[in-house]
Amino acid sequence: MQISDCIFCQIAQGKIPSETVYEDDGLIAFKDINPLAPVHLVVIPKIHLRSLNDVTPENEPLIGHLLGVIRRLAEELGVAESGYRVVTNTGTDGGQVVGHLHFHLLGGQALNARIG
Ligand code: AMP
Ligand code: ZN
Repeated sequence: MQISDCIFCQIAQGKIPSETVYEDDGLIAFKDINPLAPVHLVVIPKIHLRSLNDVTPENEPLIGHLLGVIRRLAEELGVAESGYRVVTNTGTDGGQVVGHLHFHLLGGQALNARIG
């Protein structure tokens, strides 16, 4: 399923340009347009899932693959040893702005440990 007015679906379809760092049949990883750390990627499934709440058992292999890709990207970008953070904001209280499931990969500096 793709939603025509969803910005991340449009990135997944190549209709909006992005600084893509990884892509396969199921996923795309690109640089966040407003980076909050020296390494700040957004990693998304290409299918339109609104948030983690939309993930079904059927999607779980895809999400497992996505986390494996994040782990490899962290290594390739040189932050695996120094450390990094993977965040998926979910819903209003979670601070989710873009309504297409995405995971932030943040690293390259000591991140503020504060939550909320
Ligand atoms: P969230 O608050 O988790 O929904 O975060 C959405 C993220 O998407 C923010 O960090 C934005 O900077 C990022 N973002 C929005 N539009 C784009 C875009 N066209 N290309 C890259 N990143 C984007
Ligand atoms: Zn979408």
